[in-house]
Amino acid sequence: MPAVDTLEILKSAKEERRGIGAFNVVNFTQIIAIKDVAEVLKYPLLIQTSVATASFYSPELIVSVFREIAESSNIPMALHLDHCREINFAKRCVKAGYSSIMVDFSKEPYNENVKKTEEVVRYCKKLGNIAVEGEVGIIPGVEDNISFSKKDEILCTPEVALDFIKKTDVDLFAPAIGTAHGIYKTDNPKIDFERLKNIDDFLKNNHIFVPLVIHGCSGLSENIVRKLIKYGASKFNVSTDIKQRVLRGIRDHLNRDIHSNNTLELEKIVKRETFEEVKRWVSIFVANYSYA
Ligand code: 13P
Ligand code: ZN
Repeated sequence: MPAVDTLEILKSAKEERRGIGAFNVVNFTQIIAIKDVAEVLKYPLLIQTSVATASFYSPELIVSVFREIAESSNIPMALHLDHCREINFAKRCVKAGYSSIMVDFSKEPYNENVKKTEEVVRYCKKLGNIAVEGEVGIIPGVEDNISFSKKDEILCTPEVALDFIKKTDVDLFAPAIGTAHGIYKTDNPKIDFERLKNIDDFLKNNHIFVPLVIHGCSGLSENIVRKLIKYGASKFNVSTDIKQRVLRGIRDHLNRDIHSNNTLELEKIVKRETFEEVKRWVSIFVANYSYA
């Protein structure tokens, strides 16, 4: 199946109150592993790269490898750029063929965030059907080497969410609601579910049906994910869980055989551990969908 556009996957997920995973990869082996999960569980998903990963390989190469892999599958998959803070690089990824992009000017003054996000949205609409994700608020943690502490956190309000979406015309919206990038220090992070519900309700009451995105999903329990879906979230960004599981697999392997020079074995571990972790995540969405 040719790669599908991101909105097609997320709009129907929103209508049916389903969660869709957006999984960060850093290499091509992981794209293959994640495509395998989509096929085994017969469930659509998004693959995303950070700007660092896109720059490392080049957006053009990532798009061509992604397309080759996605076209061999019969399950819808799309390629998304995560947390891009540079307009020119975002445009390059769009031209290269990314299905959708997130531009993140959330750390800049609100009016700058609106202005820059809107410029990218306009560019994407002119080029075609490329969905843009914007963010309002400050989500703590480390993402692409940029770090914010818990005391920097600023949560999003329904009024600001509406204002931002109206002014920028973004297709996907990431409100800060208490989640954080990286590893949670507690099993029970303080997530403002009511805030998410209020944002979702307020937008709907104003006839806006933009899928809502949750950043920092690694470490969240199945119950929390289920509640987030119930309260209006559609796209779930997962990165750290995958990195940690892959690294654990590699470490265990090297501890067992420190003199190994079989680097293909390492690729196999990357593939196997990525597959298992993403399968664990997608299974949560499949289970939630079947008994929703
Ligand atoms: P985690 O690394 O906490 O899963 O966050 C992923 C993310 O939000 C990517 O944008
Ligand atoms: Zn994020």
